[in-house]
Amino acid sequence: MTQFARRSFLVGGGLAALPLLGDGDGNLCGQEKPAARKLPAKGHFPIKAVSSANGMAATARAVELMRRGVDPLEAVVQGVAIVEADPNDTSVGYGGLPNELGIVELDAAVMHGPRHRAGAVGALRGIRHPAQVALKVLETTDHVLLVGEGARQFARVHGFREENLLTDKARKIWLHWKQNLSDQDDWLAPADDPEVSAFFHEHTRTLQLAGKTVRRFVRPTGTIHCAGMNAQGDICCTTTTSGLAFKIPGRVGDSPIIGAGLYVDNEVGSCGSTGRGEANLQNLASFLAVELMRGGMSPKEAGMATCRRIAEHTKRRDLLDDEGRPIFDLKFYLLDKRGRHAGVSLWGPAKFAVTDEQGTRLEDCAFLYKRPADHS
Ligand code: ASP
Repeated sequence: MTQFARRSFLVGGGLAALPLLGDGDGNLCGQEKPAARKLPAKGHFPIKAVSSANGMAATARAVELMRRGVDPLEAVVQGVAIVEADPNDTSVGYGGLPNELGIVELDAAVMHGPRHRAGAVGALRGIRHPAQVALKVLETTDHVLLVGEGARQFARVHGFREENLLTDKARKIWLHWKQNLSDQDDWLAPADDPEVSAFFHEHTRTLQLAGKTVRRFVRPTGTIHCAGMNAQGDICCTTTTSGLAFKIPGRVGDSPIIGAGLYVDNEVGSCGSTGRGEANLQNLASFLAVELMRGGMSPKEAGMATCRRIAEHTKRRDLLDDEGRPIFDLKFYLLDKRGRHAGVSLWGPAKFAVTDEQGTRLEDCAFLYKRPADHS
């Protein structure tokens, strides 16, 4: 098959069936050799960072640091630190929503493209900057992932300060959830608190289920992923989160799992995600998206093909609406070696953040399904 014909096949949607088989040359089928691409000379790649919509300050900081020559991984970790420290972002770091016991547990990972190395922490308690702990795992150990008490001990010996990460705002939201959970326990319905009610209203969706229109509270997710490319064309990324609100203690999501919450191949590009971690974990979606870009897809095409794969693999009836669409959301943020970027989402409209030579802005994600007006 000619290069042109093979590409048409890939972009035309045949990729769902693309076999991941070797060609005997160490390459996966469908893989385009890096040398075949026209890339800028080292030192002339576009310096840029992409992130989830909550990351405009992070991408701006990461690009500022990369322009000063800071390594892209250090730059994105410093960028997301702004969001990890923000008490108003209830999805990341300090101020993140807690597990079902009211304890904040954080997941984070980092990946360094040029060295193809990763570090991660899962279910880490009491440390505000888990991405920095993940970076220490990468830099100072032979391991990739530390979890729970081991991760906390590790952070402590590296001088990270322990603190209570549960803000008053997050505590009130958690308590309201707990008090409303069941009419068969001893908690009475909570008194009205406008700030808390606004939060629950914001996360209540209209869904078509079993032939009926229902309003349902959808447990909040939220995370920051940030990827950066420097002038050398080196790509690094990080994902950091408090994970699914009110999760079972010890639950680890996709964010610290390499290939799920993030992945980078320095010759191809990177992908990271936010949203329902369980769906990502069962598809290793960031790895998939990077492999699709290796096969010749643009970031947007690869992200959309990944969303379609997630939808196809969602079989549980309680996770599908009456039209067979997943009722959850998942988003991907992609950057390729040519400096092209995209944000894609199962449900839109949605935004993602970019900083490059044109400045810092939110751009529209491509999406599979359009949500009803109140389905924010
Ligand atoms: N993906 C994260 C998790 O499942 C949550 C999120 O991104 O909203 O833990």
